[in-house]
Amino acid sequence: MARPQARLTVLSGPSGVGKGTVVAEVRRRHPAVWVSVSVTTRNPRPGEVDGEHYWFVDDEHFDWLIAHDGLLEWAEFAGNRYGTPKGPVEEQLTAGSPALLEIELQGARQVRERAPEAQLVFLAPPSWGELVSRLAGRGTEHPEVQERRLALAQAELDAAGEFDVIVVNDDVARAADELVGLLTAPPPAGP
Ligand code: ADP
Ligand code: 5GP
Repeated sequence: MARPQARLTVLSGPSGVGKGTVVAEVRRRHPAVWVSVSVTTRNPRPGEVDGEHYWFVDDEHFDWLIAHDGLLEWAEFAGNRYGTPKGPVEEQLTAGSPALLEIELQGARQVRERAPEAQLVFLAPPSWGELVSRLAGRGTEHPEVQERRLALAQAELDAAGEFDVIVVNDDVARAADELVGLLTAPPPAGP
């Protein structure tokens, strides 16, 4: 019997909705789930570890990765650049194992273009008010940066219809379970 085809799953959604929190819960409960580590030009937040949360790089290094076709997708977001290293994702899928990317909207659209078979999952807040309070409650950005992220969040919410599945992050454990179910679900049958 043919080995089931490994699937690339993209989790996206507005800043502050809880993507990082839900992915951390998925990893805690299911350490075998492989999650891509992105490169970024932003500064680490307190507690963030290079190579674990992100690869923190300077602009020159990021330019080099783009020039050498090292990124599956990349985007500028709220003044910094973020990208998915291509090699590790390809290795994972070639080995027949599912891969999870946690990226913003422009990146999700690039993946849709380059890998139409990828599954796009949108993490939605229970309400706009809850999103605003989560972003403010995280307390990691200055108020001006929060404002910038909220303005982007409105546009990101409007794009939810472009995704294959919407998961509401009302409860972290429930949303993590739903995501794990999607990661391991077989792809829809072809034509
Ligand atoms: P993102 O990665 O989407 O920017 P985070 O994972 O950093 O968002 O979450 C933003 C804030 O919301 C954090 O303070 C986090 O603890 C909180 N949060 C995440 N999920 C939930 C939830 N289901 N209920 C309440 N608070 C949550
Ligand atoms: P943060 O600065 O809060 O860690 O991330 C800001 C945004 O960048 C989030 O929406 C996050 O999902 C997104 N992001 C993280 N890594 C990548 C990546 O590799 N590519 C893209 N396009 N977005 C990313």
